[in-house]
Amino acid sequence: MRTQIVAGNWKMNKTFQEADDLINDIVEFINNNDIGNTEVIICPPAVYLELASDSASETDLFVGAQNVSEHESGAYTGEISAAMLESMKIDYCIIGHSERRKYFHETNEVLAEKINRAIEHSLRPVFCCGELLPEREAGKHFDIVKTQLTESLFHLKEDDFEDVVIAYEPVWAIGTGVTATSDQAQEMHAYIRSLIKERYNEDAAENTTILYGGSCNPKNAKELFANKDVDGGLIGGASLVAEDFIKIIKSF
Ligand code: PEP
Repeated sequence: MRTQIVAGNWKMNKTFQEADDLINDIVEFINNNDIGNTEVIICPPAVYLELASDSASETDLFVGAQNVSEHESGAYTGEISAAMLESMKIDYCIIGHSERRKYFHETNEVLAEKINRAIEHSLRPVFCCGELLPEREAGKHFDIVKTQLTESLFHLKEDDFEDVVIAYEPVWAIGTGVTATSDQAQEMHAYIRSLIKERYNEDAAENTTILYGGSCNPKNAKELFANKDVDGGLIGGASLVAEDFIKIIKSF
């Protein structure tokens, strides 16, 4: 059975005290409720990873970084390596978020290297893919996603691919309040699963967790997560408010 995941991407938000409060609220919820098979991940800014990982060690909470360097180590001021994250017992790492692609010019080729570093250091990648609005309007969304997966992910051996989580995030839905319809999400998730089957095999396709991301909130999460091929969500804005994030966790 596939792992269901609700992951919060905090982006560049929260002061230390606010981060501490939010982590404590989530930990308290997890400690006092049965969340079944759902895995909850928080991806705070890098400066709070230690705080999050200390709190997570006592409970069923997982911690992810928002980015990792494509380089192993060396003179790359401001960067954080996969080895550093591994040494801090960080579980996951978001790779390929559309904001990194857009503002930091991360290409599919660079992302493939980031995936390699993550796998080499036992970090589970949450690989983001998704099309821009003009690409969807031009009917190119399937091709765009196929290229992103092929150029950044499908070079992995089957054993390594087992550690990968995919997040389908149509760029036009991120932070816009416009969510993909349930049908649009299901259609793309099923397509991604078919690509995994073609590249690897049926088992790999069935076992890969594919998250939806893009203006997912407490009101629409239930309908989105009810789709056969949607295994949870990567949540931006709504992960910054404990009450909203918790409602989303309860949406399975
Ligand atoms: C994201 O940043 O991954 C995201 C899905 O953001 P939002 O939920 O705010 O659209």
